[in-house]
Amino acid sequence: MPQPDPGPVPPRAAPPPGAAGAPVAHGAAHAPDMNEMDMNEVDMNEVVGRDDLLLLTLDTLRYDVAAELAAAGRLPHLTAHLPGGTWEKRHAPGNFTYASHQAMFAGFLPTPAAPGPHPRLFAARFAGSETTADGTFVFETPDLVSALAARGYRTVCIGGVGFFNKQGALGGVLPGYFQESHWEPEFSVASPTSFEAQVARAEQTVAELPTEQRLFLFLNASALHQPNWFHLPGATRGAGDDRRTHAAALEYVDRHVGRLFAAMSSRRRCFAIVCSDHGTAYGDDGYTGHRLGHDSVWTVPYGHFFLEPPA
Ligand SMILES: [Zn+2]
Repeated sequence: MPQPDPGPVPPRAAPPPGAAGAPVAHGAAHAPDMNEMDMNEVDMNEVVGRDDLLLLTLDTLRYDVAAELAAAGRLPHLTAHLPGGTWEKRHAPGNFTYASHQAMFAGFLPTPAAPGPHPRLFAARFAGSETTADGTFVFETPDLVSALAARGYRTVCIGGVGFFNKQGALGGVLPGYFQESHWEPEFSVASPTSFEAQVARAEQTVAELPTEQRLFLFLNASALHQPNWFHLPGATRGAGDDRRTHAAALEYVDRHVGRLFAAMSSRRRCFAIVCSDHGTAYGDDGYTGHRLGHDSVWTVPYGHFFLEPPA
């Protein structure tokens, strides 16, 4: 069942604006040594094989809107898990869905938005890689999804935007990395209840798995992607999307994300990555949309954290 709307949320004691990128400043006082640098103290070689894994891409989410809502206490379910209650500011590995997800599935998650090098959580074995550290899970396959399958994970894709709709050859490329993939019109950008439907599918996937079966679940949330005006009460199709409707769509996702986190941690600890694949422009400097090189597109919110199972 969908969670009820929690209603107005009082402002929380949030770190000051601009603190979102603070974690990447660790260890900057001397020449960067990859293994001393902050990876939020996660050794992915311990995580992989032990924990379930969630990659949740909030498609098209802008960093500035995400950071503003977090600071205003309007994302209570997401900020309850984000380190410090804030999003980390990162740079997207691509400026539209296909490019960005191809990169992420190869181990190139969004990069911290500060001079690097920055160690990666996952990396294909690659001679000369300067972002592979002790805590990096290094794989021999060309992509992370097949690498996790080789380690015994059930790999499941719950699609959202058109590049996951399995309609036509191109729409099958990204879902094709996974052992199991799901897409329904109700998951799509045109559905006002897309995220609830996607989360229900995730709950079903988890319920159907044998208890000992490790799971890597990827979910591409389509709610932020245009059109999103229908998430803001009183907005109209004619007026279209803007930063306010974008924000309303993110609040909609936040209202239901707790169900996804609960399902993913229902069997064992889960390591979760929540990020955007790229942002989008709403008339910024004259630009509209994405697949273009503007800061509103390249700058994305990111967070990773553990979801602990019920005691
Ligand atoms: Zn996208």
